[in-house]
Formats: sequence, C-alpha cells, structure tokens
Amino acid sequence: MPGNGYFDHNATTPICAAAREAWIETSERMWHNSSSLYREAGMAKLRLEDLREELADALGIDEPERVIFTSGATEANNAVMRYFENVAISEIEHPCVRETAHALSILPVSETTGVVELEMVEALFLTKEELSLISVMAANNETGSIQPWQEIGVKCREAGVLFHCDAAQWFGKMDELESFGESCDFVTGSAHKFGGPKGVGFLTIPEDFDPDFALASGGPQEHQRRAGTEDLPGIAAMMAAFREKRLEPNSGLRDQFETDLAEKIEGVKFVGQAGQRLWNTSMFVVPRESNLKWLVRLSRAGFSVSTGSACSAGKGNPSHVMEAMGLDFDSMSRVIRVSSGHDTTADDWSALLGALVECDREFLSLE
Ligand code: PLP
Repeated sequence: MPGNGYFDHNATTPICAAAREAWIETSERMWHNSSSLYREAGMAKLRLEDLREELADALGIDEPERVIFTSGATEANNAVMRYFENVAISEIEHPCVRETAHALSILPVSETTGVVELEMVEALFLTKEELSLISVMAANNETGSIQPWQEIGVKCREAGVLFHCDAAQWFGKMDELESFGESCDFVTGSAHKFGGPKGVGFLTIPEDFDPDFALASGGPQEHQRRAGTEDLPGIAAMMAAFREKRLEPNSGLRDQFETDLAEKIEGVKFVGQAGQRLWNTSMFVVPRESNLKWLVRLSRAGFSVSTGSACSAGKGNPSHVMEAMGLDFDSMSRVIRVSSGHDTTADDWSALLGALVECDREFLSLE
C-alpha cells in the first residue's frame, strides 16, 4: 500500500493542519455575527478586515475593499461572466466560465503547449471593438498548462479592455502573486485547491467598479458586494492554508515520473508537455484500454487519479480541454491525469509508476 496514493490535488486537496486549527480557533472564539454592534462582533469584523487586507497585500492590491470573499471559484467566475455582455474566453476555461460567459470570441490554444497565443489576443483588439472583457485562466486544471496571464493583462490594459483571470489552480501552488494586482482586474481563487476548506474563495474587482455589481443582495456585507453573514472561520482557514502553501515550484518529481513512464510503458503520450505546466500535473494517454478501467484498478491498489477534470469526469462526455488539445475521440477515452500535492514524495511517485506499469502488464496479458 502506498504512503500517499492521492494524485488528484487539482480536483481538491485535504485540509491542512494550519487551516483546521484556524477554523476551530475562529469558530470557538469569533463565532459572533460581524455585522452586530457589541464588542465581540467588532472583534470578528476586525479579524475579517485584517484577513482581507492580508490577501489584498499578497495580491499586490492597495485597496482591500477590492477583495470579496466568496463561496469558491464557481460563484466568483459566474458573477463576472454574468455581468459582462461581450467577452472573449480561452478555449480551455473551466465550465463555470465557459457555460456562463456571453462569449463573443473563443481564443484557441496551441495543441502542443496548451497555451493561448498572444497574437490571437492582439488580433481580438483589432477586430472586436465591442469587446468588454477577456477571461483567461492562470493555469489549466486538466493539463496544468500555464497561460501568459501577465502578458495578456498588460495588453488588455493598453487596449482599455478589462481582464479576468481564474487563478483557482495557481493559488497555493505558484508564486508571483503580486503580479495579479498589477495585471488583472478580476482574479478568482478557491481555498480547497490549496489545503483550505471547501466552500470558500475570493474574487477581486477593479477599483471603484460599478456599485451595482454584487454577488448577492440584501445586506451590507463584503462592502455591499455580497450580502450574507460571512464565513469567518472558513476565511481564516483559507488564509492559514495560504500562508503555509506558498512554496517554490519544483517540477523535478513529476518530470522524472514522466521520463520513467515513457520508458516503461511503450506508446504512452503526454498532453501539453511541450509548454510550461504546473509543477504537480501530468496528463497522458495510455496505449490500451479505457481510462476508467485503469482508474478502477489503480483505485483498488490505493491510488486516486483522474480521467480529466472532476467536472467532466462524472458526465461521461469528452472534455473540451482535450478537444482543444487536438485529441481524437479514441485518445480521449484513454486519458489519465495525475496531480500531486506539496507532501507527495519521490517514493509516492515511484509507487504510482509501479502501479501503472502493473496495470499495463495486466492489460497486455489479456490481449
Ligand atoms: N476554476 C478552476 C480552474 C478549477 O479548477 C475549479 C475547480 O475545479 C473551479 C474553477 C471551481 O472551483 P470551486 O470548486 O471553488 O467552485
């Protein structure tokens, strides 16, 4: 049995010790409604605003009120997409962007790197005068492909178009967080992707943005942007996880795994390998049998992997990301995604490799 066979961190992560402690401490000591007027409520309000300031600071944002705490990335992305009429999104956005956007244009990605090309963004400015917003994620949840969000942000500024960046897969995995404030107008994050609890996240909005923009109405919370009693324990836990998880990216273990896998399983193909990817993600097409068969066998052996994103996995239809990467229907049914965490060791990766090789041997023997 492996030490840690969980390789689905892009779907969600286990809550880390610091987040759990912060959640318990805040629930026990600061459970009062921060909108009430007595002393304890005031303390809760102060804590909330401190946490907002801390997050704004980390993002390179001078005005903390530009940060809205939300229930996660879906709510945040939905709100932005519903608000704007004429937007351009990349071909590989998460369904919560893709299915909500009033998309005027779709930016394609390169089939080898999985990355949006800057020239395509520039071309948009020339041809789409009515464009109000561009949305490109920081890193893709399925392939791990890192997008040129800083550069796109700069180009949007120059063109006077707003820029939204879904950073749900970037936060807690990668650095350069201050660049978000510099280059993005809207930024989305989600706590459960980096060791925080589920059901908490954030959205940043531009300074002095339309006062009518609100994620929920009926109360003054979140500086009038999202009514409803704030989840202070969840927010404190998210920030505790955030403090813990800002490590330097190191893709060495993943890279070694891919080299070994290519050597041991003939015909395995990696998706998006030619581009820059998150250090923890590997997506590959196995040479035989459906990915579900692999998944079931791996699960029995103690390894949790994915057949794509959690969202498309349950639906049984091909992922738009795989389509964008030029995979044919047959290859799509053989795609496996593995995504590690900060605690995944070299031994865990070797054990996963061993289990994959074992599966392949078993399938080969049945042919
Ligand atoms: N955006 C991306 C890139 C994601 O990977 C996810 C999670 O799968 C989401 C948005 C949705 O996040 P949440 O679960 O916080 O709603």
